[in-house]
Amino acid sequence: MATLTLQNVHAEVAEEGEKILNGVDLEVDSGEIHALMGPNGSGKSTTSKVIAGHPAYEVTEGSITLTLDDDDFGDVDEIPEDAREWNLLELEPNERAALGVFLAFQYPAEIEGVTMTNFLRTALNAKLDEREELLFGEDEEEEEEDAGYDTSPMEGPADEGDVGVAEFQQLLSEKMELLDMDEKFAQRYLNAGFSGGEKKQNEVLQAAILEPAIAVLDEIDSGLDIDRLQDVADGINALRDEQGTGILQITHYQRILDYVEPDTVHIMLDGEIAMEGGPELAAKLEDKGYDWVRDEVYNAA
Ligand code: ADP
Ligand code: MG
Ligand code: MG
Repeated sequence: MATLTLQNVHAEVAEEGEKILNGVDLEVDSGEIHALMGPNGSGKSTTSKVIAGHPAYEVTEGSITLTLDDDDFGDVDEIPEDAREWNLLELEPNERAALGVFLAFQYPAEIEGVTMTNFLRTALNAKLDEREELLFGEDEEEEEEDAGYDTSPMEGPADEGDVGVAEFQQLLSEKMELLDMDEKFAQRYLNAGFSGGEKKQNEVLQAAILEPAIAVLDEIDSGLDIDRLQDVADGINALRDEQGTGILQITHYQRILDYVEPDTVHIMLDGEIAMEGGPELAAKLEDKGYDWVRDEVYNAA
């Protein structure tokens, strides 16, 4: 089991110094679903970005750690002794991702002729290479490769441990079946103009391929019609049920939580977790709104 822990995280906008997070505490275990809710501007997206290591934000106080068990290392044979506990604040975004913390990446805007399949396979191999490097250090051969002998961004040279085309097709088919997605989807080109809903489904597919220990999904429900919302929700449940991924589901609205039932609901106000509870808290919010939380919290204080 993996655990992502935020303790007393304070963060500000890098350079400008505007303070956004004022002591966030949050713990997500693999296999759990956590909803992070709150009004616009309360700091939800900033929380996701500091977890991922976005360079626009500086963590000025507190800690973000990831602990891993043997079963979080997949098929790694000999897990190094010091590989079970990580201070994420010391790691680059791609290193955090390699250890199993997923935040959907933005699409490369314009890459001609790259299919979803190739894109996903490249992402998976990049993750596996990065993890190998974190756990065992970089071998000389790869240093040469990284030094730029190959210039194609999407089709780098094959490393020994890379997932090959045929093996990847197999994996992709399994994952698309798990998510009940049409296989044609993966043959489409990255820049082929996915609809809003398709982009969200792609996000879930990325998480299915990369099999993260913890996935942070920021407003994956926004702008979805009810059918698409149901599909995306089914996918999220499958990530948790079938691969044990822990989910930090960031949302402004209670609606998706009818389909993805959270174990815990955290409500953020002004850069802090102001209230926590079970699924019933989300329902209460739907009734009473965020002003009710504000009244409860500030009147109690
Ligand atoms: P949420 O996702 O809950 O709507 P955000 O985390 O996006 O909230 O933003 C929290 C607050 O921080 C907002 O007031 C927002 O304007 C501010 N903020 C976030 N990112 C930046 C940034 N890069 N530069 C300046 N202000 C920012
Ligand atoms: Mg727990
Ligand atoms: Mg946001």
